[in-house]
Amino acid sequence: METFHLDRPRSVAEAVRILHREKDATVIAGGTDLVTLLRDGVATPHRLVDVSLLGLDRIEWRRDGGVRIGALYSNAVADSRLAREYPVVTEALRAGASAQIRGMATLGGNISQRTRCRYFRLPEFACNKRAPGSGCSAIEGDGSGQAIFGTSSSCTAVHPSDLAVALRAVDAVVIAQSQRGSREIPMDEFHLLPGDTPHRETTLRPGELITAIELPARAHSGHSHYLKFRDRASFAFALVSAAVALDIRGGAVRTARVALGGVAPAPWRAVAAERVLTGKRPTAEVIDAAAKAATEGARPGKDNEHKVELVRRVVRRALTELGQR
Ligand code: SF4
Repeated sequence: METFHLDRPRSVAEAVRILHREKDATVIAGGTDLVTLLRDGVATPHRLVDVSLLGLDRIEWRRDGGVRIGALYSNAVADSRLAREYPVVTEALRAGASAQIRGMATLGGNISQRTRCRYFRLPEFACNKRAPGSGCSAIEGDGSGQAIFGTSSSCTAVHPSDLAVALRAVDAVVIAQSQRGSREIPMDEFHLLPGDTPHRETTLRPGELITAIELPARAHSGHSHYLKFRDRASFAFALVSAAVALDIRGGAVRTARVALGGVAPAPWRAVAAERVLTGKRPTAEVIDAAAKAATEGARPGKDNEHKVELVRRVVRRALTELGQR
């Protein structure tokens, strides 16, 4: 492990002052992802800013029914109202990692975690995300876990977060603070697709710190569900996952959200599936059509064609299970 300087600010103002001054400093909170990257020589920051003393671990309910959750809120979420009003969010959190890791991990860290692409995590392999311009070992290597949507010739890695997928289904907003003030970043705009710059993963600007995630009051959020297909029942990343949310009035779907995990370099909105559902009764036939539409635009590689069928199955099952509630 390389040596680094460690800052432990006591306030958000002090933290953003350091991040403004030290533009290439790396933020650490629970450390459940970053510590492994440091240990393995994948991340070699010269400066870490530990934000765990900033008190950003509260959950505040708004009068309009929305909620603001501090960026340091634990992934071992225990808020019964959150489980009732945003079930997709708590289900996604519980589907992640192990109980011990969830106890250490934070919401802000969860949506900022790095890809599990095996070549990214092994410094001896070429990787454009870790070392821009070095090449992509996954293109000629094992592509079975790689993305089928949103890839580029530079990178085909998938985003590993369950929570980020759920947050897209409830129209969440990331709150970022800098010395210039705070700004709102809709989850739909937070993660970047790789293009020619796979090392740039979010729209956070240098000097910005995630301080909270806001979930607006939306009718579809309360009728939502997260389903994850994986290699084993716990402590595994998604092969494919789906976050579904429906606002149903008079028997017909008024608003639909279908977001996918494990299939793209960012949490992926299946807008074609949402279009199929909107305005219709969610019958088995409509759900089947939505599941097929969820793979519109998929471009699997030689090793991951199975993900196309998995997407259809996970979307079909998630919507069916939601309808049984
Ligand atoms: Fe690196 Fe992306 Fe290629 Fe994986 S897919 S080796 S993360 S550039």
